[in-house]
Amino acid sequence: MSETIWMKIDSGETLSRDDMAALLSLTDEADRRVLYEKAYAVKIRETGPGVYFRGIIELGNICEKDCYYCGIRGSNGEVKRYLMEADEIVKTALWVHENRYGSLVLQAGELSGPAFITMIEQVLGRIREKTGGGLRVTLSLGEQTEETYRRWREAGAHRYLLRIETTNPDLYRRLHPEDHDFEARKACLGLLRRTGYQVGTGVMIGLPGQTAEDLADDILFYQKEDIDMIGMGPYLPHEATPMAEHFPDYVYDPDRQLRLGLNMIAVTRLVLKDVNIAATTALQALHPKGREMGVQAGANVVMPNATDTSYRESYQLYDNKPCLDENSGLCRGCLTRRIESVGEEVAFDEWGDSPHWVKRVSDELSL
Ligand code: SAM
Ligand code: SF4
Repeated sequence: MSETIWMKIDSGETLSRDDMAALLSLTDEADRRVLYEKAYAVKIRETGPGVYFRGIIELGNICEKDCYYCGIRGSNGEVKRYLMEADEIVKTALWVHENRYGSLVLQAGELSGPAFITMIEQVLGRIREKTGGGLRVTLSLGEQTEETYRRWREAGAHRYLLRIETTNPDLYRRLHPEDHDFEARKACLGLLRRTGYQVGTGVMIGLPGQTAEDLADDILFYQKEDIDMIGMGPYLPHEATPMAEHFPDYVYDPDRQLRLGLNMIAVTRLVLKDVNIAATTALQALHPKGREMGVQAGANVVMPNATDTSYRESYQLYDNKPCLDENSGLCRGCLTRRIESVGEEVAFDEWGDSPHWVKRVSDELSL
């Protein structure tokens, strides 16, 4: 790796798209170690020591969409479909609160019917009431109307995660059926900002046909859209999806996926500095210590699964999802030990709002 890029990083000079692509492409172990150390130092400086837990509830796998890469896509007839009852979601959310996670993520397949929208609204209201507003709540429920985003925000959701998946519109088109629209998804990020959420997005890393320049553009997109939190992870194949038919030349290389996933966390941290970045479960599917490695490369959030194990088999976005039979209590203990094993600490009882969002809101207030 050229000395100039390391010097640019050390002096805080802006990295060009080419610099980012070069860093994202690093394969040499010694170079990658330097990259991760530099990114980790920025993580400590900008978000402080500590890693935030977000307990995630995968509340349903029924989906109106049909993304080619996803194991729970609507037309996968092999999946046993479920939607948790409101009482069960609230009960699980209270477990997350009692276990001092500070934050909760409600994720599901995309549904737009009025009964679902009202159910989520009521669940949010009940969680707020029963925890005295003690939990920060992130939603990850796909593309919705402005009215729905507003209703959910008013009912108690604070953050929303909607991955753009890839910012290369041609690649986006090749990954989705014709009625899935890149521009519509991008517009949703604007709606979320307007309705007062902390806005999160992300991409899949190592997609077929995706270049290092595409990934650099993804980071520039995060920057341009002024994103507060990033949830991104390696693309992992699922055998019951049509990806192999659509991309017959794609060779899946788990080592490359892991390496790219970590490089992407590190370069995103170096460029965006003060956002929250999650070390996602997909990293752990590639390596038993994948999430810890993500933290060491600059991530500051992990998302322990709080979903009852009886549902986990049915929420497999990709093959070989880890922790399928590990209940939430075990998951908490295991992940806490893992985080401590890399010299970090779990920031229990803290909301862990994105410092980027905190600054933006204080700037807006002082205007
Ligand atoms: N349905 C909502 C949506 O798409 O925004 C939320 C749930 S969806 C399962 C959450 C994320 O899973 C997607 O944004 C996508 O990036 C990721 N995902 C789906 N299939 C994947 C795969 N095969 N490998 C890695 N990530 C995948
Ligand atoms: Fe549905 Fe989300 Fe999977 Fe697409 S990624 S098929 S919207 S659950």
